[in-house]
Amino acid sequence: MSVFLPDLILKDVTYINEKLLKEHNIKGLILDVDNTLAKHGSQELANHISDWLDEMKKLDVKLMIVSNNNKQRVEPFAKKLGLDFVSMALKPMTYGFGKAQKIFNFENNEIAVVGDQIYTDIMGGNLKGMFTILVTPFSLESHFFFKLKRKLENIHINKYKKRNGVK
Ligand SMILES: [Mg+2]
Repeated sequence: MSVFLPDLILKDVTYINEKLLKEHNIKGLILDVDNTLAKHGSQELANHISDWLDEMKKLDVKLMIVSNNNKQRVEPFAKKLGLDFVSMALKPMTYGFGKAQKIFNFENNEIAVVGDQIYTDIMGGNLKGMFTILVTPFSLESHFFFKLKRKLENIHINKYKKRNGVK
């Protein structure tokens, strides 16, 4: 299977629930920050995400933030949420995911990576043999490079839709 193909595509993280976790035997969730939990660079957490996090904390699943962003951006955000974190994770390299896996102490296939980018979150998670969940980014970056990347990502998203019969 292609490393660019997510196992699941969801509208946002709040579609992850107890049933979905059980169905895929997921015991640990690795969460991206920028455009997955919050707008790019923002410390603010949307209400629906905050409610979802409260629900997840009640379940038998461990949560951790793994971000390519720097410590100054990630640490205050993670602290506010009461979550452990790995910053400067070098996704799609598997360094950050490996670190999270050791802390979780679960098998790779019991861990899901959740993020908005195919070339970092999804590719890295797939390389590590983790379950991968792509979510729709909060806000699309306007910079040319990001626009190009999103275009390329759509190729893989369309493949996923074709394979899963989603229109
Ligand atoms: Mg992101």
